[in-house]
Amino acid sequence: MKTLADFDWPGKVALLRAELNVPVKDGKVADTARIDAVLPTIRDLLEHKAGIVLMSHFGRPPEGSSDPKWSLAPVRAKLAELLEREIAFSPSLDEASRPSGGELVLLENTRLNRGEKAGDPDLAARYAALGDVFVLEAFGSAHRKDASLVALAQAAGDRCAGPLLEREVAMLGKARSAPRLPQLIVAGGAKISDKLGALVNLAETAEHIAVGGGIANTFLAAQGKSIGKSLWEPEMKEKAQQLLDLHPDLFIVPGDVIVAAGPDAPAGIAKPANEVDADDMILDIGPAASKRFADEIARAGTVIWAGAMGVFESAPFAAGTEAVASAMASSEAYTVAGGGETLAAVRQFGAFGKLDYTTTGGSAFLEFMEGKELPAIAALQ
Ligand code: ADP
Ligand code: MG
Repeated sequence: MKTLADFDWPGKVALLRAELNVPVKDGKVADTARIDAVLPTIRDLLEHKAGIVLMSHFGRPPEGSSDPKWSLAPVRAKLAELLEREIAFSPSLDEASRPSGGELVLLENTRLNRGEKAGDPDLAARYAALGDVFVLEAFGSAHRKDASLVALAQAAGDRCAGPLLEREVAMLGKARSAPRLPQLIVAGGAKISDKLGALVNLAETAEHIAVGGGIANTFLAAQGKSIGKSLWEPEMKEKAQQLLDLHPDLFIVPGDVIVAAGPDAPAGIAKPANEVDADDMILDIGPAASKRFADEIARAGTVIWAGAMGVFESAPFAAGTEAVASAMASSEAYTVAGGGETLAAVRQFGAFGKLDYTTTGGSAFLEFMEGKELPAIAALQ
């Protein structure tokens, strides 16, 4: 894999695929961890008089949508603030043009372009025409085959790993090849199928896998429990059942939960996981489960955490995620956490800087840890 140092940058244009899929609240960036992580790369390229075409996806919009809620505009504003300079912005690919040396242009959300999710080579050729060297920094998306990740790596004149990606691969590679045992996985969040899929291989090496968030709901359903109106993924129920059958003592499924009518409810109620009513929504793990997870984190050798335990953005449903963040911060284990919302939670609960490593990847992080080759990284070689 080439790196930034392999190129003579003055006058060249970097096609910088970053991971700017950050939490946004009320039109403002709510957590800058993923932006902060790529700022040194941007500064370094600009200092070397390279032009930059900065691109990222944001959320999961329908392709072709013009709804402003999918716009990278809030990221543009935050970038301008952090870099202390105006950020040129191309609202559509049609309007984009090649920047000159020392100039940066941010492209609108790649997933608004038709063909992005399908990895369309024609779309990739249009991205490639804007610059010279594809630079991959989007570790958090490296498990995907979107056009701006894989087809672009092939369509661009040349390609390399950015310093952030290099660091992610080196640090996580270390945790993967020589884990301190026992290894504990804590998996949660809303991207159920991505993360649950990764648990299949991790189940072979982990001593325990503690599940929260939407993944826990899917496991509770797989155990035959009623989960009311909770977020879950019916298509993953069978996989969860198979995992439970194959590894009966491996999974730690919450025995109690916090329920409410919905995430905007002013308060939640703690209940045993087998007493959830038809109109309840499970929005956090319960206090007994939080204690159990924290105890396991304290006695583990390595803890890998991806995905919030509940809707931590709202105070009544934050306790489970806070318990995990605090336990990670004080554990003697080698602790790694990652994901857009997970990093926001790590910061919110004062654990930033107290973990051994934080990665920008969420689902990609879990796939990397299970030993999978990530398509976007493979495309650089
Ligand atoms: P990450 O960005 O860290 O990879 P995800 O994007 O998969 O994590 O999921 C994070 C989101 O999951 C959080 O915003 C949180 O509100 C939501 N979440 C967690 N638990 C639940 C739940 N039980 N019901 C609904 N949403 C949940
Ligand atoms: Mg997320």
